[in-house]
Amino acid sequence: MLVLDQVSKHYGAVKAVDGVSLTVPEGQTLALVGESGCGKTTLAKLILMLEKPTTGRILFDGQDLAQMSRSQLKGYRRQVQAVFQDPYASLNPRLRVASIVAEPILAHERPDRAGLKKRVEELLDHVGLPASAASLFPHEFSGGQRQRIAIARALALRPRLMVLDEPVSALDVSIRAQVLNLLADIQQEFSLTYLVIAHDLALVEHFSTQTAVAYLGRIVEHGSTEDVFGAPSHPYTRALLEAVPQPDPDHVLPDAALLGEIASALDPPSGCHFHPRCPVAVPICPRERPAEFSAPGAGHTAACHLLAAARPLEHATSSP
Ligand code: SF4
Repeated sequence: MLVLDQVSKHYGAVKAVDGVSLTVPEGQTLALVGESGCGKTTLAKLILMLEKPTTGRILFDGQDLAQMSRSQLKGYRRQVQAVFQDPYASLNPRLRVASIVAEPILAHERPDRAGLKKRVEELLDHVGLPASAASLFPHEFSGGQRQRIAIARALALRPRLMVLDEPVSALDVSIRAQVLNLLADIQQEFSLTYLVIAHDLALVEHFSTQTAVAYLGRIVEHGSTEDVFGAPSHPYTRALLEAVPQPDPDHVLPDAALLGEIASALDPPSGCHFHPRCPVAVPICPRERPAEFSAPGAGHTAACHLLAAARPLEHATSSP
């Protein structure tokens, strides 16, 4: 459905996104994970057309966004909606819930009053809120309820793709599961495709079908969530997984200690950006950017020199 083809976004000398290629298949949930500063929020902005790529193409249903006509872009904006991290900041505090949820509808259509009221009530019902919520203001709701309002607004135009930018990380731990369950339910009900931006690997493992791991503007590993979590092939992914508390003491990845802090995107390390932190770096790592090589599992790839000899990319789409 959505294809990123060698997409880069530079802000002066800062390469926030550096040659990213990714495919988001219809009906699936692709999680983009990494520490802050890895470029995942910039990627979300590019997909939502809040920013333009410096180079590369973004294709939706095979069509390049940069080549779309005005009416095609309007159609794209209808079909691609977003839910952001902070429901306190993303809802206008001066508007009643009815106006917030109706806003995208009124931007695209001219419904009559009764029809609009009915649609707002249906949307609130879909996210588990009563019709009476429509006349209240955002401050009269809890964080979880506000995120439900944001989800109702995102659903208003019956989109096909939703970008979920850290959708539960601002919420109380006790209500995260409820909001994730709601997102899973509406994905089924509305045949939605999700792109989830997250730093929380525990969330990603249970919520996504595909996982892409980003580091300093590049994708370092990509595959089915089962493969990426079951057989992590990039040292950075292994380090991220090692940092997640494990209930099983036998589930320990060797050689996975993460050294130091993420470098600045203003002055990224040469070669493999990860080399100063990598516990298994070899002499070629600071010299050359690694290409993508296949890892265990169909369509599972990782960009690490250590995979070069064993698994060239031409085998990336078949099981080893
Ligand atoms: Fe580590 Fe080298 Fe692989 Fe980069 S390319 S992750 S530095 S071993």
